[in-house]
Amino acid sequence: MPKQTTEIIAIGDELSTGQRLDTNSQWLSNQLTNMGLTVQYHSTVADDVNAMIDIIRVANKRSNFILVTGGLGPTADDLTREALARAVDQPLVENSEALQHIISLFKRRGRKMSPNNRKQALLPRTATLIHNSEGTAPGVDIIVTSRENSVRVFCLPGVPAEMKSMFKSHVVPAINQDIPGTPRITRHYVLKTFGMGESNLEHELPGIFQRDRIPVVGITASHATITLRIQVTAASEIECDALAQPTIKEIT
Ligand code: ATP
Repeated sequence: MPKQTTEIIAIGDELSTGQRLDTNSQWLSNQLTNMGLTVQYHSTVADDVNAMIDIIRVANKRSNFILVTGGLGPTADDLTREALARAVDQPLVENSEALQHIISLFKRRGRKMSPNNRKQALLPRTATLIHNSEGTAPGVDIIVTSRENSVRVFCLPGVPAEMKSMFKSHVVPAINQDIPGTPRITRHYVLKTFGMGESNLEHELPGIFQRDRIPVVGITASHATITLRIQVTAASEIECDALAQPTIKEIT
């Protein structure tokens, strides 16, 4: 499988001001890495439409898949749809399926729909809807093709439960369909050492931390414990184990 670069954009003042920890990006990164994708960037952006347009345009140039979370609500600070439409030079168009979903959700809950909620049915012209079975905000799925590349952007709500359910039901099958060949998985193997310094360890294991080594080995230190993480991507767990074994043996 050629390297599929992926990036995650988390939207919201509550994140950029530090009031809330961006756990969505951590969860998504884990899922995407386990699918064999390379997550290269995380960005956190305030509820500022120009900042959002900038980051989406930059991401469109450098990634194959972009996952955006947050900013799909009905209020004036929910600007993801507008930013996406402007970043890809498309008008926002009311999607009848999305509108029906919002209307029927309010009916089911016996609540009056406010006019603001209609805004949640607006999608960039060529986008398709990602069904949200748990809330009002439909997600957005759009393929943006330029002369240089083709990028698929998925926008999901910020609410973690909705985001996770839509990722599993829509994003995973969509990505698996886009990437030819067998589905891939990634496994991490963790080895801990105690009492030895990082530089001594590197001296004893020449070349092991080179970034282009396969499998790649990461190192993190915490007090006297050093953790080595071997990351392997292959078609199955058995294949991953086989690929990791020589490195585990070398380190041990
Ligand atoms: P929606 O698109 O559904 O409107 P939003 O981010 O615009 O999402 P908010 O009201 O800002 O809506 O957030 C809904 C809830 O989800 C809040 O509790 C918020 O803190 C949480 N949330 C939003 N983004 C993240 C994130 N990246 N990580 C963890 N929690 C998040």
